[in-house]
Amino acid sequence: MNKKSLIMRCDGPRLSRRAFLGALGLGGAALAGGLRAPRTVVAQTASAAASPSEPPPAFQAAARRALEGLLARLDPAAGHRPHFLLDLNGDSARLLHDDYWDSVDLGGRTIDALIRLRRIVGGAASDAELNLRNFFLAHQGSLGLFYGDGGDATAVADSFCQSRALLGLTTLVASTRDAEVETRLQWLVNGLAQIAVSNEDYSFFPGRAYRDGWLDYGLTKEEAYDHLDSYGYASQAALPLMEYFALAGYRPALDLAGRLLRHFIYHTGLVDADGHFAGETHAAGYLGMAIAAVRYGVATGDPTYVDWADRLYRWVQANSSQFGWVPGPLGLDAPYFARWYNAPLRRTCETCSVADMLNLAILLAAQGRPDYWDDVERFARNQLLQNQFGSATAVLSAEACKRVPPGVQQAVAGAWESFALPYRLLARPDNQRYVEGCCSGSGARALSLVWEHALEQRGPVLYVHVGLSRDGPLARVASHEPAAGRLDVVPHSATGLRLRVPSWAAPDSVTLWVNDTQRDARRDGGYVAVDEVPASSRVSLRYDLVERTETFTVNDETTLAHWRGGSVIAVDPDVGPAPIFRTRRDSQPPAAASRGTARPASVTRAP
Ligand SMILES: [Zn+2]
Repeated sequence: MNKKSLIMRCDGPRLSRRAFLGALGLGGAALAGGLRAPRTVVAQTASAAASPSEPPPAFQAAARRALEGLLARLDPAAGHRPHFLLDLNGDSARLLHDDYWDSVDLGGRTIDALIRLRRIVGGAASDAELNLRNFFLAHQGSLGLFYGDGGDATAVADSFCQSRALLGLTTLVASTRDAEVETRLQWLVNGLAQIAVSNEDYSFFPGRAYRDGWLDYGLTKEEAYDHLDSYGYASQAALPLMEYFALAGYRPALDLAGRLLRHFIYHTGLVDADGHFAGETHAAGYLGMAIAAVRYGVATGDPTYVDWADRLYRWVQANSSQFGWVPGPLGLDAPYFARWYNAPLRRTCETCSVADMLNLAILLAAQGRPDYWDDVERFARNQLLQNQFGSATAVLSAEACKRVPPGVQQAVAGAWESFALPYRLLARPDNQRYVEGCCSGSGARALSLVWEHALEQRGPVLYVHVGLSRDGPLARVASHEPAAGRLDVVPHSATGLRLRVPSWAAPDSVTLWVNDTQRDARRDGGYVAVDEVPASSRVSLRYDLVERTETFTVNDETTLAHWRGGSVIAVDPDVGPAPIFRTRRDSQPPAAASRGTARPASVTRAP
């Protein structure tokens, strides 16, 4: 079949630039009631570091690199089609197209990510971003599904990619309130409900490729190459379905998400009673389904879904490092890899998995598990930021950089790793230096989620869940870690405060200061409570930083992570290619610079 017959070409008007961001519907308020009205978002600038003594805002810098990197992946000669692959082989760098993953998977992710990143760094959508939207929308075809590029053999609707299309469309609707886009989104939701196999109160997708019918049944163990069911590959569409339901209250999205979750949780046997499973944490949808389950449980008032997600979270957490190295494959042993891949077992960390874990931790923390804010902050401060390459010189020689076009260098700097070891990047088991575009979309999404949920205004009280240096409509926040255990919060209006005390604050060392006057540090659960203070008050939490070494073993290789407070300041081994945490090691002041008394402790994890 000619591909063009599959695609409804979109020659419609350019999408509106107006209201560059409306409600994204991602927070606790959205979970509770849905958000409908657009809200104004003040451009976030890199002004969090207001005094020379405050640290540079690492998150804003990462977000800026991510924005420029994703835009650099777009190909103006091909209608702003994204390049899925970044090839770093041979001390060079080039962007490559991929007919299967470019347009729907990376297109959807990039639309989602660019809107989110501009919430952090400010600014309106560029022409390139607007052109990408039109390019992406042109891939919607029969039944509202999104079809890939290439010749007749590959122009199919991949069942995983539909979930990334849903992500992009949902964030786009939240941002623009464009009625045409919302109509397209609902068309896709209804198309997915139509192609799902349904029985009683549950539904599933049996295969990867759809074109006028299922072209395979590869998600069932009967036809899977490795004889494993992989329903979560496609069913994680439940995640964006629940985001859209939270945004707009569209009942068919809730209904389909519920049917997919019931099949996955109650009918597949893929996750046992302890939350254990065997498969890819991201690509096989285990974390994605758990994220959807939390939202579904909240939306329907059924805590069993939230508890199921919590058990799964704790299983992945138990197999992750405390700094956020999250395994891609989990529960699959060496004989599995030898039999099906003819390769030794080597676990690596995909940024997509880190992003899923952060998303899940945030939702669970907001649902009565505040201890998980520690995970959010440790993961975000460490593996999430370190998984971004940061600069072309991090992976290429100075000579090579002279040969690589500036745009490709930008793509490298903003890219997130797909195969990280706990101490370095570029660790694909086959030693090829390919970086997959999915991770660059996911890394940006994770930055945005942490950014949005770090602060929460609950009535008259501003909660600071994550000590992240930032400025915004609610407050200016400056974390001085790892140099010192100090968190400064300057609210922009009169408010009470709750400042979360991280687990790495030495016991009995926490003090509270308001405008440099010490106050009683009254505790409210895991937070220090502050009665209402006037706007522009400087409220400071000061504490000693615990220093310790974490021992983490994966692939029979042990990494020592040297912690100061919530930051890893060095790892051993410290070797490449692309070693991580090295800039932190080089920039650390002597231990005495931390206010804290060194309190050595050791934590050992061995997945
Ligand atoms: Zn990825």
